[in-house]
Amino acid sequence: MKSAKLVGIRQFEIFDLPAPEIGKGEVLVAIKSAGICASDVHYYHHGRIGDQVCVFPQVLGHECAGVVVKAFNGSLFNEGDRVAVEPGLSCGSCEHCLCGRYNICPNVKFLGGPGIGGAFQEFLPLDERQLHVIPADMGFDEAALLEPLGVAYHAVCLSEVKPCDTIAVFGAGAVGQLTAAMAVVCGASEIFLLTRKIGVVFCEENVRV
Ligand SMILES: [Zn+2]
Ligand SMILES: [Zn+2]
Repeated sequence: MKSAKLVGIRQFEIFDLPAPEIGKGEVLVAIKSAGICASDVHYYHHGRIGDQVCVFPQVLGHECAGVVVKAFNGSLFNEGDRVAVEPGLSCGSCEHCLCGRYNICPNVKFLGGPGIGGAFQEFLPLDERQLHVIPADMGFDEAALLEPLGVAYHAVCLSEVKPCDTIAVFGAGAVGQLTAAMAVVCGASEIFLLTRKIGVVFCEENVRV
């Protein structure tokens, strides 16, 4: 399989490797789409995000979707299942996991994070708990956007947007645009999407969901 590895700051190399084996509880997924997150861009430019330091060679990428090509005996998944991927594999036993806030698990293993292989390669072994079957009419690019959509959904829930609210979203990247779209779903009547480069980009009538 082809694997794009970050081998140094601003240096990608394509490697030809055997497809990975699956471990206990794992399913092999053929990656069909992977988004480039701002965190991937940070790793590319600086080799780190704060105290998260790349372990070169590092396979980046965590917003992804694909098709199951191999599953273990007794898995909930079958070959051919189309899946979206939850990039964080949380521990399941800390206080945050136990009260359902697994997104802030301090022991999380995050796809494409330091030392953990990410999605910029053709096949990826994943714990089946990280997979969600997607509808037949959902494309892989849309499915890869479900992770940033989850971030946007969480932000909108925390902000308690109500019908007729006017809101501002700072940042007009994928998460900013998805946050604006989620605010429309929640009934916000006027939305300002702000970016450092060109000021207000667009507002509610330009956001379609
Ligand atoms: Zn991301
Ligand atoms: Zn945990």
